Amino acid sequence: METPARRPRALVVGLGIAGIATATRLREVGWEPVVVERAPERRKGGYFIMLFGTGVASARRLGALDAIGDRSHPDVLSYNVNRAGRRTPGMNPAQLTSGAGAPRLLLRGDVEEALFAALPSDVEIRYSTVPTRITQDATAAEVTLHDTASGATVTERFDLVVGADGMRSTVRRLVFGPEDHLHALGYMVGVTLLDEPVEGFGPREGLILAEPGRSVWAFPFGNHAPSLLFSYRTNDIDAEFSRPPIESIRAAYGPQAPGPLLEHLFSRFEAAEVSQFDSVNQVRMPSWHRGRVVLLGDAAWCVTLYAGMGASSGIAGGELLGTMLERHPDDLPRALRAWEDRLRPFISAEQESAFTTRRLFTPHDRKEYIARAAMMRLMRTPGLGAAFGKLQTKDMAHKAIDIAAA
Ligand SMILES: Cc1cc2nc3c(=O)[nH]c(=O)nc-3n(C[C@H](O)[C@H](O)[C@H](O)COP(=O)(O)OP(=O)(O)OC[C@H]3O[C@@H](n4cnc5c(N)ncnc54)[C@H](O)[C@@H]3O)c2cc1C
Repeated sequence: METPARRPRALVVGLGIAGIATATRLREVGWEPVVVERAPERRKGGYFIMLFGTGVASARRLGALDAIGDRSHPDVLSYNVNRAGRRTPGMNPAQLTSGAGAPRLLLRGDVEEALFAALPSDVEIRYSTVPTRITQDATAAEVTLHDTASGATVTERFDLVVGADGMRSTVRRLVFGPEDHLHALGYMVGVTLLDEPVEGFGPREGLILAEPGRSVWAFPFGNHAPSLLFSYRTNDIDAEFSRPPIESIRAAYGPQAPGPLLEHLFSRFEAAEVSQFDSVNQVRMPSWHRGRVVLLGDAAWCVTLYAGMGASSGIAGGELLGTMLERHPDDLPRALRAWEDRLRPFISAEQESAFTTRRLFTPHDRKEYIARAAMMRLMRTPGLGAAFGKLQTKDMAHKAIDIAAA
């Protein structure tokens, strides 16, 4: 009697969007994924994200799209505001959400939750677990895993290790060396999800307060209070981390008096139970794989929030990895090369796009501020607005490429 072939074993580090998508697809193509996650449990909630066509196509094939849903709504609208509280009609997120290639407006947690629900229940997940050492020989990658809850340490052998452990990846440091692959864009972000609308605004209303070098956004949803984002320029990232986030944020929007609206937004951020404060960085590496170890998602390419494609590219990258492993079952180097060859031009273009869209998020200086304001006026001009919309649609077409299509 023939013994059944052993299923190849993969360690997936990180239970974020990229890690869950990868584990699902690896399981689908006959691998045995083991997922380790540093946190003691799966995180929930999160901030505003847009899921573009690239991510939608992969999420559909992974069986997660229906559960991901869509929080856009035709009544959602956003105002341009200033510190004095003056409002003018702003960019309506609903404009982005109609027509071919339109993104879905979501919370990060919507995507993680839906992908997690699609993950086969027999996939092993170890929480409070981090890799501390990774070595490789001709037949396997040997990984030492530390359970931070129990203090136990084990060493196990895997056919493949996937580092999907985010922008400050441990797998990247352990395998690709101490060289810092982070490229700072010179911006900081503070983000949280509000539980009630912004004072004085309707439940589906958002706002954008843009000034040279800094901006605040409240991204509105059809069925949830907005997600609040502070995004500002800095020349000294270390100094931003040297004090509580709210102090850095307040300083960045000074020295002028904030006025009642900005003061309200500061206090909402300060009062939030969960918030995130970080520098904006891209990860740039000459290769995303070394031997039996491959990086994926923010760990490998972090396109940044300004590109709006971190979630989509993480899902697609995970799906495509499984496809290439299935296509080259006995040739791991070839599978990893084919995977990276397909993805790299797409990711490079998205990394570039972050520099253009950053101007829309947060004008760098007075010159960019004036150019941004002129663009906003053009968008609202009858006729020109539609033409501009078409141009934008062209730009968005790249974000709809089904890069993981078989
Ligand atoms: C404000 C903001 C807005 C954004 N907007 C958009 C948008 O509109 N569209 C879009 O597509 N993307 C957007 N993004 C980016 C997107 O959220 C990320 O690119 C995406 O979530 C990254 O997923 P990931 O799985 O690669 O990494 P992460 O989400 O960072 O997940 C990494 C996981 O690994 C775990 N981990 C870390 N270290 C270890 C370790 N040593 N051992 C074990 N586990 C570990 C972490 O706990 C985490 O669970 C936005 C990001 C921000 C901050």
